[in-house]
Amino acid sequence: MNANPGAARRSLEGLALGDAFGERWFPLFREPLQAYNDIRARRTPEELRWHWTDDTALALAIQRVLDEHGTVDQDRLAACFALTFDADPGRGYGHGMHMLLPALLPEPEGWRTLAPGLFEGGSLGNGAAMRVAPLGAWFSDDLEVVARQAELSAEVTHAHPQGIAGAVAVATAAALSVRGELDIRAVAERTPEGAVREGLLRAVGVPFATEPWKASDLLGNGQRIRADDTVPFAVWTAARHPEDLEAALWATAEALGDVDTTCAITGGIVAARTGVEGVPASWRERRESLPGRGQGRARRTPVAGSWCGA
Ligand SMILES: [Mg+2]
Repeated sequence: MNANPGAARRSLEGLALGDAFGERWFPLFREPLQAYNDIRARRTPEELRWHWTDDTALALAIQRVLDEHGTVDQDRLAACFALTFDADPGRGYGHGMHMLLPALLPEPEGWRTLAPGLFEGGSLGNGAAMRVAPLGAWFSDDLEVVARQAELSAEVTHAHPQGIAGAVAVATAAALSVRGELDIRAVAERTPEGAVREGLLRAVGVPFATEPWKASDLLGNGQRIRADDTVPFAVWTAARHPEDLEAALWATAEALGDVDTTCAITGGIVAARTGVEGVPASWRERRESLPGRGQGRARRTPVAGSWCGA
């Protein structure tokens, strides 16, 4: 199995860009009507600093585990997620992660019982999907490995089969993107049965000439924060613009909804192939930078011999 860290890094940069760009369109920064008009007019958000959110923070945690171990070690990933949250809990985490991640800090291996206990049957939210595109790029040589590693990364926090399916779909899309083979039907065929796969199959039938906001009426825009309400639309916009990250992100933003997360997913998928050099320089300058390996506040974790800079 050949790892592809270069593609994973491209994907991570695109995920962070999508996350930070998408976050600009929430009512905290501009009212929905103004947001929609600005997006339609392709007016770049004027703020000079675009912070990324939980999507990127957790993607960085996965990246650290892959850098260290070359594969998903679930206890170490749980520890790294918990430390990442603890270092900066104000990154816009959802309710479930506010309950789960602090509980994993003293006992990372507790994910085995705590994650399935969330929301009676485990979370089917979009949180496992939003952080996983770089993992798909990393393992892009082997789609079986992509699916298995995506499952492992999801289970630590999202135990519901559809929370896991969302991660498998996005990781698969990112791997296909690296290979220049992004195709919604191919993603659906490798996604476990259920609502996420059904949404992807619906997306196959939505022509790319459709305006994105209309497509989101059929596919969802993440407003319900569920994987099946988020992943089909984000994969559809990525497949609509597989060679143009800027166009992909504008199209994704048109649907508003959980727009940091839909843009993070689309950005991670498309940039796995394109990188972020094609977007306007002002976007790259404004996006909060990513910590390099070994930078930031490295802390010992309760897992012997492991650390996670966060
Ligand atoms: Mg977020």
